[in-house]
Amino acid sequence: MKTNRMICMTESWDNIIKFNEKYFPGWRGIDEIYYSNALAGEVGEICNAVKHRAGGGTKEKKVSTTELMDEIADTFIYLELLIEKQYLDVTSLSDAINSKIKTNIERMEARNERGE
Ligand SMILES: [Mg+2]
Repeated sequence: MKTNRMICMTESWDNIIKFNEKYFPGWRGIDEIYYSNALAGEVGEICNAVKHRAGGGTKEKKVSTTELMDEIADTFIYLELLIEKQYLDVTSLSDAINSKIKTNIERMEARNERGE
């Protein structure tokens, strides 16, 4: 059963592709290195926004929650484009995340059992 969150993200993923198909019709021909670098750049923008929210940097005005969420949205946009460029199925992302969480749980449980 799909939750509202899943439906919302599916619509968002679709909108990202629709936007690019309409305004950047040649986007699929651009080297995927562009998208991985753009993703890294957007992650950097999140880090910078968080730094400013924490009082770092030289900006007088703090970064708002909306501005931070915009940067987070940018990372999802480039993540989706990178997924598409790699011919991966974004609908399997949830399965991949759950599998990774399961692996991480197993690792942590093993550490706990060893008393670490
Ligand atoms: Mg940005």
